[in-house]
Amino acid sequence: MNYLSTRGAGAGERHTFSEILLGGLAKDGGLYLPADYPRVTADELTRWRTLPYADLAFEILSKFCDDIPGADLRALTRKTYTAATYCNVRDDESAAQITPLKTLGVEAGAPLSLLELSNGPTLAFKDMAMQLIGNLFEYTLAKHGETLNILGATSGDTGSAAEYAMRGKKGIRVFMLSPHKKMSAFQSAQMYSLQDPNIFNLAVQGVFDDAQDIVKAVSNDHAFKSKYKIGTVNSINWARVVAQVVYYFKGYFAATKSNAERVSFTVPSGNFGNVCAGHIARMMGLPIEKLVVATNENDVLDEFFRTGIYRVRKAAETYHTSSPSMDISKASNFERFVYDLLGRDPARVLQLFRDVEEKGGFDLAASGDFARVKEFGFVSGSSSHDTRVDTIRDVFQRYDMMIDTHTADGLKVAREHLQPGIPMIVLETAQPIKFGETIREALLREPERPAAFSGLESLPQRFEVVPADAQRVKDFIVANTGE
Ligand SMILES: *Cc1c(COP(=O)(O)O)cnc(C)c1O
Repeated sequence: MNYLSTRGAGAGERHTFSEILLGGLAKDGGLYLPADYPRVTADELTRWRTLPYADLAFEILSKFCDDIPGADLRALTRKTYTAATYCNVRDDESAAQITPLKTLGVEAGAPLSLLELSNGPTLAFKDMAMQLIGNLFEYTLAKHGETLNILGATSGDTGSAAEYAMRGKKGIRVFMLSPHKKMSAFQSAQMYSLQDPNIFNLAVQGVFDDAQDIVKAVSNDHAFKSKYKIGTVNSINWARVVAQVVYYFKGYFAATKSNAERVSFTVPSGNFGNVCAGHIARMMGLPIEKLVVATNENDVLDEFFRTGIYRVRKAAETYHTSSPSMDISKASNFERFVYDLLGRDPARVLQLFRDVEEKGGFDLAASGDFARVKEFGFVSGSSSHDTRVDTIRDVFQRYDMMIDTHTADGLKVAREHLQPGIPMIVLETAQPIKFGETIREALLREPERPAAFSGLESLPQRFEVVPADAQRVKDFIVANTGE
């Protein structure tokens, strides 16, 4: 399997899976995609229907990765997707399913269910891919006798998922910047209570943007970056996207009895990584009817799917909402879909994303390409704080089920796209305890807390407070890498 860039680096620039695993953007600024999407055969779909999650992950990853020996890859997926890791299930359902499907009921003739993706160590769907990345990175680094220092900035979900994936991994250190005293008590306790010697939490005296600016400044110092082997694990990482393809298959099998049936998925979206994986599953031949993109007030993607206009927002136009993990000004994985939408024409992709940089966006409304959005199954919608609160209340009353704000966004939008006879699967991206304030507002009660998290906030914490100064962060890295 060869990978190429959406912006058209030539045939000589093709790479294997392992070559792009640790990297981010392609050299020409594009994103990596496979040269062709592998197809699943009817026989494979039948055979995969009953596989345990880890073995399904192995089958799907094998199609995208031919430079890791099969036995090693299988060992990695089996080490990753265990009932012990995805144990934070909320009732008596089996953790062994990894991503259990919870049926709500039938609405407008459509069976409606939630696919639970947040039973992992940090209670958000990012664990699904990040846990695999941790094992893949450790394996690849050991093979080449290399080390990696991951530097990132976080306002919550991504940073904690990365830390829980990398803790205790050989050859890897994590330096995670977070805004000092700006996260919820639960979120900072999740990160700061880690005592693993390879995890470093830096609480920056400033806001999230200050932390992100420091990461950019350090990454732009190319000499420092290469001397100290600085890397990232952001949402454009290809392996993260491909790991997410697996649960679309798993959810499909759980919601259907035969491969003749079609289902739709609704995906609470920010950077378009999660729903991009759904698009890839559909391109592989999984019988998906619709992919519903759900956004909050930051509706960059909903605007595009309704109008054909992609218009990135300025920082001042980006809202801080009660579904904060979807608060984006632009969608960093969107270019992968645009590449397919334009019939894989890298010269046009290059032009459009130049327009994004120079003019803040592009307009496909008048072009024939936008009409093809339907062929790809995409539709969209958005939520507001009030509609999320109403949805949380409604689902609790009607189905006795507590959902978080991001999942509420998904369910609200899913209800606008139900079709009789076609199961609708809403991806549950986080557990309610992570966003307790809105639960209290909606339900006048405390969010459910998985047993393993009782007393989390009173555990000893380990973090370093630093000023918003890139040099101080570099000094800290130098002092703690022993190189
Ligand atoms: C990251 C995140 C999202 C958005 O996912 P994308 O892949 O960026 O579209 C939605 N919900 C939660 C809880 C998240 O952490």
